[in-house]
Amino acid sequence: MNTEPSGVEQPPRPRLRIGALVTALTATFTLLCCGGGSAAFFLTNLGGEPETLVSNEITCQQDHKVNMTGDMPRMPQYGDSQLRNAAIIIKVGQEMKVSPRGWVIAIATAMQESGLRNLANSTVVGSRDIPNEGVGRDHDSVGLFQQRAGWGSVAQRMTPEYAARKFYEKLVKVDNWQQLSLTRAAQKVQISAYPDAYAKHEEIASRIVNVLAGGAARTVQIGNRSICDQASAETVAASGWTAPIPGGVGSGFRTASRPRHNGVDIAARRGTPIHAAATGRVLVARCDPDRNGRRDCDVDGSPGKGGCGWFVDILHAGRYITRYCHMVAKPLVVPGQEVKAGELIGRVGSSGNSSGPHLHFEVHRDGDRSSLGAIDPVPFMRQKGAALGSSSARIARR
Ligand SMILES: [Zn+2]
Repeated sequence: MNTEPSGVEQPPRPRLRIGALVTALTATFTLLCCGGGSAAFFLTNLGGEPETLVSNEITCQQDHKVNMTGDMPRMPQYGDSQLRNAAIIIKVGQEMKVSPRGWVIAIATAMQESGLRNLANSTVVGSRDIPNEGVGRDHDSVGLFQQRAGWGSVAQRMTPEYAARKFYEKLVKVDNWQQLSLTRAAQKVQISAYPDAYAKHEEIASRIVNVLAGGAARTVQIGNRSICDQASAETVAASGWTAPIPGGVGSGFRTASRPRHNGVDIAARRGTPIHAAATGRVLVARCDPDRNGRRDCDVDGSPGKGGCGWFVDILHAGRYITRYCHMVAKPLVVPGQEVKAGELIGRVGSSGNSSGPHLHFEVHRDGDRSSLGAIDPVPFMRQKGAALGSSSARIARR
């Protein structure tokens, strides 16, 4: 498909009021998005993948059995006993036939509540006599999920299998829990004073599930089956991610011919729905000025015009940001709005620096909206089970 969008690196410019400033910033803008070799210094050391993947995190198998014996895999964030607790949480979920999304929610919850440690409580009589991995002091809560007295005896709540089972029993009774954001699903079970704290663990919880259970966070549920790497549009992977539109990647990330192309292009018909790739908060939704400072995103753009057109930036758990450029009309979301994974945010068009309808899609890490934060969306989305241009997506495109 003949597309030539800009991949604008830094749309979030302050409002411009002074002519000289406009000229200066427009010059910078042009340099960043479409310029020649003079900006090459800017790209030094930016191409590498920041993630240090554990070896068995890389593939998604059809068999997601969790191995409870022997050494646990090594992860920088958690030690052997904590990963063993995570493995118990997964195993109980599997026995109860809860889908992998539930394992991610349960592990993220235990990360927040106990740091994946089976905690006694300094105010709960007898709890310190039971084998434990630390001592908390919150009300009368104990165990991996910090369950209070109503959930069972002290000994029961400090048995990881029991605690996990109780968590799942409540989770699966929550209406539509598989479609809820992790925060809302966990909050319905835990009734925590700090519900927003759960979401920040979604990223690592997904990685733990992948490491311990053969890439299970990369699956979507289709009927009773778990399918790897095919979350697209309305189907959301257990990791919480989905491909924003069907269709394969045409022009790639920072290719030799387009070293400043900080995203990927996915060709699609004009008007194709664009879905939020994960739950998050809209940071920006507006028309990106072209290289002359014009904001005429309601007309089709052209190669060399500059700018991202109508576009949206969304902030997600793990401080990832996704960007969606060249929409056909004003986005359907507004800054500050919370969106769910798979929610409709706009439609494919050709506004801005574009020669034909397509989605220019970017992923940034560390909450960095500039080009410095951009990473290759292809391996990132595959690792989330929402591979761009997956086979189900190709089928859906027909
Ligand atoms: Zn592009």
